[in-house]
Amino acid sequence: MHWVSILSTILLYCLSGARASPAKTIMYGKLPLVMTDSCMGVFGEVTWEYTSDALYASPVCTYEPALQSFLYCIYDTLHEKGHSNKTFEKALDAVKEDCSYYTDTLHNMTTSDFYDTLNNGTKYMVQYVEGSANLTYPVEMDAQARENFYHSYHGFYANYDIGHTYGGIICAYFVGVMIFAGILHYMNYTRFKTTLFKQKIVRYVRGYATLPTIGSKHASAISYLKIFTGFVPTRFEGIIILGYLVLHTVFLAYGYEYDPYNLIFDSRREQVARYVADRSGVLAFAHFPLIVLFAGRNNFLECISGVKYTSFIMFHKWLGRMMFLDAMIHGAAYTSYEVFYKYWEASKAELYWQFGVAALCLAGMMVFFSLAVFRKFFYETFLFLHIVLGALFFYTCWEHVVTLSGIEWVYAAIAIWIVDRLIRLVRLSYFGFPKASLQLVGDDIIRVTVEKPTRLWKAKPGQYVFVSFLHPLYFWQSHPFTVLDSITKDGEMVIILKEKKGVTRLVKKYLCRRGGNALMRLAIEGPYGSSSPVHNYDNILLLTGGTGLPGPIAHAIKLGKTSAAAGKQSVKLVIVVRGFDVLEAYKPELLCLTDLNVQVHIYNTMKVPLLDSSDSLSTSQKDEEGDGKGGFVETSLDKSSSPFEFDCAVFHHGRPDVEEVLRESTELSGSLAVVCCGPPVFVDKVRDQTAKAVLENSSKAIEYFEEYQSW
Ligand SMILES: Cc1cc2nc3c(=O)[nH]c(=O)nc-3n(C[C@H](O)[C@H](O)[C@H](O)COP(=O)(O)OP(=O)(O)OC[C@H]3O[C@@H](n4cnc5c(N)ncnc54)[C@H](O)[C@@H]3O)c2cc1C
Repeated sequence: MHWVSILSTILLYCLSGARASPAKTIMYGKLPLVMTDSCMGVFGEVTWEYTSDALYASPVCTYEPALQSFLYCIYDTLHEKGHSNKTFEKALDAVKEDCSYYTDTLHNMTTSDFYDTLNNGTKYMVQYVEGSANLTYPVEMDAQARENFYHSYHGFYANYDIGHTYGGIICAYFVGVMIFAGILHYMNYTRFKTTLFKQKIVRYVRGYATLPTIGSKHASAISYLKIFTGFVPTRFEGIIILGYLVLHTVFLAYGYEYDPYNLIFDSRREQVARYVADRSGVLAFAHFPLIVLFAGRNNFLECISGVKYTSFIMFHKWLGRMMFLDAMIHGAAYTSYEVFYKYWEASKAELYWQFGVAALCLAGMMVFFSLAVFRKFFYETFLFLHIVLGALFFYTCWEHVVTLSGIEWVYAAIAIWIVDRLIRLVRLSYFGFPKASLQLVGDDIIRVTVEKPTRLWKAKPGQYVFVSFLHPLYFWQSHPFTVLDSITKDGEMVIILKEKKGVTRLVKKYLCRRGGNALMRLAIEGPYGSSSPVHNYDNILLLTGGTGLPGPIAHAIKLGKTSAAAGKQSVKLVIVVRGFDVLEAYKPELLCLTDLNVQVHIYNTMKVPLLDSSDSLSTSQKDEEGDGKGGFVETSLDKSSSPFEFDCAVFHHGRPDVEEVLRESTELSGSLAVVCCGPPVFVDKVRDQTAKAVLENSSKAIEYFEEYQSW
């Protein structure tokens, strides 16, 4: 999808260049500004001995006694509020700015000119009497009237600022949560975490609140009529999302300063409509940076927190939904406001309005086409639409606010996006575009062997790369696959991929036409993701199956070569396979384990006598996706046999009893790290059983590392 992104960027750049330079967001609620506008408001109803032929005229800017009264209003109110002449002088800039719409005469006035005007005025100043007309002298307004206007304008303007502040707090919330997660993550490198995890309160929080799935669903999708599908957050993710939703709701509903006298707006209803419209609009824009950051592959928060990309995608989705909700509220509230004032027809013709409507429609389309059903069955189409609609959405939002305020949120998002794309390009170029050796193993597994660009390029166990197969028919697609260091040749890495229905199937067909072996040029971007820091635990239980084998096998090899070999750690690798083709694909790596201090248990779940090869393929795919029925079947075989000499492994029939496997590991002395990557149903089961083990084993530090990811 690189080309779609690049084209979208160029298109946006060209379109944006055609417009006026963007307006800088100002903090409207600042005192000098509010004071100036509220004093303008105070004199709005006063009639002066003044006429003007100008289409728009304001006596307070052009008629001397009115200007003197206006300046005195600002000066007096500021001093009543305990402010000095300095604040008054700042307000003079706002006076010039406001009056520049009506006259140029104030533009060249210096501060001392303004003081002269003010001092002249105070000599003749009289108290304003309600109902006076055709005034020819400066007047002093009643303090209460000034205060009422001040309150009214402050409520209106501060609402914009609060929106930006609240948006900033939402960003800070996620950054704060990630820093906290990072602290917990880096504790894995110390012994402190194992002590902490034994504390009763910590075990309870982890066992009940953060570790388990919600309703046994996380890696496996919920599904209704096979169309309404989606991923449920883990409880940890759920808590973070809930915190965000609460913040967002409070920020949308709280902190409005309504004016009981309706001095600016005609009624309370209009105030509510306008204030809610402004707040929701600003809040919607404040989502931009986080949404882009969380979808990016190079997210600094992922690096510092150790939180997986899949969690960030979960947050990205929720942020996107709430941004859309904000945009809908913004549109509905503004429409109601404009209809009330009968401005709607005129507003509809305004460019900013039309771009706003377009942005809302695009956001709706993005949310709709992001439904899990599209991602599952038409991932490439979803991605294409998401990028194109996203680029258009950016453009329309830009145009919507270019002369208003809030453009800085878009700047931030664009900057994040550009940095991500640049890093991606650097990563791609650094790896180069090597020719890889592809080998078909069994019916549906492909072993890819590829030379690393330099010895400096390293991927830790569980990390993944994005691979593009540089074939004219599908070179633009970029798919994540976990990498393994080659056992047989230094400087080489291995990717084992299983055929699905898209590009992997096309690659398989390509190989079939060439007798099962071929060379193909690849573009490789990575490595991405962090490796589970298991080395500080005394016992490591690695559970894996399906396409999830590379990470746990890489961990087993690494641990086996280091402290497990020295007898410091116990490492158990539990592999669940449906038939032995997959083992054949990992033959060198598994054979390497024979010499290492790693216990390997292999569970074969295949009903061999009942299936021909095509049945086997479809059933195994069903397993991968997790059909909600457990995903594993008992074998009818009396004896499983390995396809190659693999003496160090214990072979089992059927699926493993996860609870029992975990119990065996918890009985060993010392801390325990459980790592799991495999079919979704299996992963969810291991997560829940580990949470249970955490609650049941008071004297044991147990950590769970889920390496399965899906988005
Ligand atoms: C972090 C990670 C590591 C992975 N490691 C491996 C591995 O080592 N071996 C392996 O066989 N598979 C691995 N996968 C799965 C692999 O990425 C998909 O099987 C592959 O992208 C399917 O390509 P396809 O076009 O044939 O799929 P399709 O048949 O079009 O889709 C099959 C499924 O893959 C998902 N998918 C498709 N394209 C992408 C994409 N670009 N990004 C994310 N998901 C996608 C779809 O949602 C769909 O549910 C990994 C996935 C992730 C997220």
